[in-house]
Amino acid sequence: MPLRVYNVLQREKVDFVPMHEGKVNMYVCGPTVYDHSHLGHAKAYISFDMIVRYLRFSGYDVLYVQNLTDVGHLLESGEDRILKKARQASALPMQIVETYTRSYFADMDALGVVRPDISPRASAHIPEQIEMIETLLRKGHAYVAEDAVYFDVTSWPEYGKLSNRRLEEQAAGSRTLKGSGKRNPEDFALWIFAPPEHILQWNSPWGRGYPGWHIECSAMSRKYLGETFDIHGGGIDNIFPHNECEIAQSEAANGVPFARYWLLVGSLTVNGQKMSKSLGNFVTIKDALARYRPEVIRTFIFQSHYTNPIDFSDEALQAAERGWERLVSAARAVRNRLRSAPEAGENAFAQVVEAHRAQCIAAMDDDFNAPNALAALQTFTGEVNKLLNSGEPLNKATLMAIDALYSDFGGQVLGIIPQGEAHSIDMRLTDGLIRLLIEIRAQARAEKNFARADQIRDQLKALGVILEDRPEGTTYRLE
Ligand SMILES: [Zn+2]
Repeated sequence: MPLRVYNVLQREKVDFVPMHEGKVNMYVCGPTVYDHSHLGHAKAYISFDMIVRYLRFSGYDVLYVQNLTDVGHLLESGEDRILKKARQASALPMQIVETYTRSYFADMDALGVVRPDISPRASAHIPEQIEMIETLLRKGHAYVAEDAVYFDVTSWPEYGKLSNRRLEEQAAGSRTLKGSGKRNPEDFALWIFAPPEHILQWNSPWGRGYPGWHIECSAMSRKYLGETFDIHGGGIDNIFPHNECEIAQSEAANGVPFARYWLLVGSLTVNGQKMSKSLGNFVTIKDALARYRPEVIRTFIFQSHYTNPIDFSDEALQAAERGWERLVSAARAVRNRLRSAPEAGENAFAQVVEAHRAQCIAAMDDDFNAPNALAALQTFTGEVNKLLNSGEPLNKATLMAIDALYSDFGGQVLGIIPQGEAHSIDMRLTDGLIRLLIEIRAQARAEKNFARADQIRDQLKALGVILEDRPEGTTYRLE
């Protein structure tokens, strides 16, 4: 069975056939870096991480581009989000951009989200955006008004094809400048003229200003992936106007189709309402990570298909935690048993492993159905636990086959079973024991039992652990 994906553009599940065999070019709309990310962002980027991981696992060579919006994403008030934050924090806009870009990547790294291959910034691609706007003007799809250069939506009959909106329905949902020179209320800004005091501004053929939000994705995806590419991803909330504007700009400028498959992720909700900054019902990724392991957050997000919404609650996270613990303790038990398993013997469990591997593949090939893959791993774990508790001696081949399934789907694809876990458990245990001995030695010294204190120091030294007494306390290093 080939990989099938739900293509929002066609509104149906279709076979996935990339333009170039074995290669996938993929673009995902990234964050606007003006604040810490919340769990809603985690849902979107963990979902695309799972998709990229599975494509690579399936043998595709994926080029993954995800932008960082650092200019031109305006609030309803017409103010640039980053400039507003900079004003509030008495900082330069690029300090805000730097702070929250680092924060975003720190959160994503902590969540085990593999970094995009290219993370282009809007402010670093001004010439590319100007060039595309020039083409749109030349082809009659844009016009220069008093306050901005606008895209003329009436010049593009297909406008609305992704979100399935007709032009007359769009005015209500469209986030537009209250522009004086706009011809149609749905027209959107490509280049916004800036007053002298506006910090982020560049020269353009039409006057000093800055790009509108949508044009960056059209210009940067073209630069790195070409005029037509395989997958465009994003959150369902940005289908209109953002994604719709991207398609119109790109197809009007390039004269060829834009992205061939549109994959959009459902929202993360709290009591049925979308988690968002503006509603104030958000939990930052940092707060969530203080309470739950990253693998548990990922497991929670994989409880629902990526296209569906998922409702956040502590109960839901705790339920995910229980499911995750069951999986991971079986995987750990298998790895522990592997260390002393006899070499001789064939894999006695091959059929069970292969049947569940096939289920995982079938689930992921069916529009990246992570909930079904997780369910297959859970039933597999039931079988594994029975085997482990049977008292039968288990040979290396059997345990390695089980470990491989956990490593492939729990590790590589879903990223919920830490790779090399056995090693890290050993390291944590070692570190904990050394610290315990340092504490006992400090107590011995406080009680003036210097003989005991020296014994601990010398015996640790013999093991290659060097204690270093410093004014702020004792630390250690490995020889
Ligand atoms: Zn975008």
